[in-house]
Amino acid sequence: MNQVLVLGAGQLARMMALAGAPLNINVIAYDVTTTNVVHPLTQQCQSLSLIEAIAAADVITAEFEHIPDAILNLCAASGKFKPHPDAIKAGGDRRIEKNLLNNAQVANAPYHIINSRADLDAAITAIGLPLVLKSALGGYDGKGQWRLKTRDQIESVWNEMAQCIAASDNQAIVAEKFIGFDREVSLIGARNAKGEIKTYTLSENVHTDGVLSLSTAIVGDSALQQQAQQMFTAVAKQLNYIGVLALEFFEVNGQLLVNEIAPRVHNSGHWTQQGAETCQFENHLRAVCDLPLGGTDLIRPSAMINILGQDSVPEAVLALENCHVHWYGKEKRDGRKMGHINVCAATPELLQYQLMLLGQILPPQYFPALPH
Ligand code: AMP
Repeated sequence: MNQVLVLGAGQLARMMALAGAPLNINVIAYDVTTTNVVHPLTQQCQSLSLIEAIAAADVITAEFEHIPDAILNLCAASGKFKPHPDAIKAGGDRRIEKNLLNNAQVANAPYHIINSRADLDAAITAIGLPLVLKSALGGYDGKGQWRLKTRDQIESVWNEMAQCIAASDNQAIVAEKFIGFDREVSLIGARNAKGEIKTYTLSENVHTDGVLSLSTAIVGDSALQQQAQQMFTAVAKQLNYIGVLALEFFEVNGQLLVNEIAPRVHNSGHWTQQGAETCQFENHLRAVCDLPLGGTDLIRPSAMINILGQDSVPEAVLALENCHVHWYGKEKRDGRKMGHINVCAATPELLQYQLMLLGQILPPQYFPALPH
């Protein structure tokens, strides 16, 4: 029996616990917000302090990258934390992330770091408008971001950015060239301590208001898949990475630019639960527990639809063929990731048909990425 402590007690830790059980891997979770060690399925408090949980764990890992330094350092000092804390820091600080991408020589959007108003002017001169401006720390799902399209917006955007910089220590803004992408895609893969790498089929991702709403495995684009795999390998090697890693890309005329990395299992890989030989949660546990990786082949065309802000869906969803609902057991809140639906089919055309049927069942205001 392996005991894995996950930093973070959300849906990703929950799905790791579910995937670990058949392998006799026991997952417990540390809720960074409440500072409680909890059971990842029931959220029940375990009578363990963080120090005791660290001592009891064989392996420590994370389900998110915005972990306070003190906790990350404490876990790293035990020698049990995987991946290396540098990978978590790269995922949590866009400055470190940009350095990493450039060191690994993978294409990404030109950028400029902004700490002051003069830096903003320098960014506009160096990159031009429009700019996408992102807080270096703490931004996710499109939060902590601004678009600067025209010069008359400079003052108001700068006012908001200055407040953001002042609000927390070591904060800055990363200004990026606006990329007119054709679509957003992501590649999820795993690397273990032996350097073995296995990657999943690329996902095409549709976001609504900065939040992922639909991911579909891309069938039959071997050139794009190869390009993404080469970039994945470069980043994973640069980090000497252990675990599941996600790379998010912009696709422009068949060329990929890395938008960001996530040093963890990723929302755009949830379809692997039904669509791949081994799901991303099991492969993350296999990698961090120093076990051989499971196969990542796509077993059938698959897609995932996020359930945002809703705590129920019509029963008709479950009556659809090859349709699986995964709830996270969370309290309902507007826009919150509450669960997801995985849907599979024998061919990509049938999968589109299934998505259309789902679009007829689910309300368009909550599932805007589905065909309605
Ligand atoms: P991020 O938090 O970096 O993933 O950004 C959230 C979303 O904003 C992305 O999924 C893109 O749709 C969009 N975005 C981010 N950076 C850029 C960029 N440089 N150019 C165009 N759109 C972007």
